Amino acid sequence: MQRPKRRQVPFIALAAGVLFLMTVSATAQQDFSKVQIKVTKVSGNIYMLEGAGGNIAASVGEDGIVIVDDQYAPLVEKIQQALKGITDKPVRFIINTHYHGDHSGGNEPFSKAGATVIAQDNVRKRLESGGTAGNGGSLKMDYPAAPKAALPIITFANDVTVHLNGEDIRALHFPSGHTDGDSIIFFPKNNVVHMGDDFVRYGFPFIDVAGGGSVQGMIDAMEKAMALLPPDVKVIPGHGAISNLDDVRAFVKMLKETSAVVQKAIDRRQTLEQMKQAKILAPWEKFSGSFINTDAFIETLYNSLTGQKGKFVKHN
Ligand SMILES: [Zn+2]
Repeated sequence: MQRPKRRQVPFIALAAGVLFLMTVSATAQQDFSKVQIKVTKVSGNIYMLEGAGGNIAASVGEDGIVIVDDQYAPLVEKIQQALKGITDKPVRFIINTHYHGDHSGGNEPFSKAGATVIAQDNVRKRLESGGTAGNGGSLKMDYPAAPKAALPIITFANDVTVHLNGEDIRALHFPSGHTDGDSIIFFPKNNVVHMGDDFVRYGFPFIDVAGGGSVQGMIDAMEKAMALLPPDVKVIPGHGAISNLDDVRAFVKMLKETSAVVQKAIDRRQTLEQMKQAKILAPWEKFSGSFINTDAFIETLYNSLTGQKGKFVKHN
């Protein structure tokens, strides 16, 4: 069986992409001075903040602010300013949906300003050790060990609930989806959910196979989460516009269909190169993006389905 070609994706290719994964490449390449934080009321006392990197959810109320994800360190001041437009109360807790720098890069400055970071056990482990994220093939991104102040102070194996602003805000871990430390965050009173990067709107998703992710786990996470959610829930994706469960279903359908096609090709003993040459995912070309194009997604599915997984971080 032919091994996938090991080639480093140049940073410039990433810079051309729609998003940045790692704080290190982002801070080196991206000019944050022009980034503006857009605040959108999602429902009740839940807001969505968009700047650069992953979407932020904010529960704003009499007890203070809980945010889900915090983008990049250079944006924290702007994020705080944007939140001041809603309330003078401080950010007390941050829940990271996963370890990637475009979702956790603000941990250090927020912690230093007095907030407490909460995340699944594997988020802390990966931030603490540093490592390489990627699709198990050509897409590889090194990230450094995070400083102590950026590490989650409270970690959990399966779930945790933050009782604030009159709501039981629940983070529930789903193993081996986008990474091996993903959480989906439920705001039941407001009927809102933040799905982290298990659900994104930029086309074919990045699945961090090197970071313990898998397409099977991503499908599983979405199906289990949907079963827990009311049909009219407002969905905040890891990246992209506020969505609904129909959007999530369409995403899951694409994941299932494309993985079935790649699995069939694997069963026929096709090599990865043959799959790319045969353009086996041509019917889903509209999902091909500047970050994860069709070939990168074939590679992702191939590595995920053949078990060429990265190192799983074990918890419990
Ligand atoms: Zn991510």
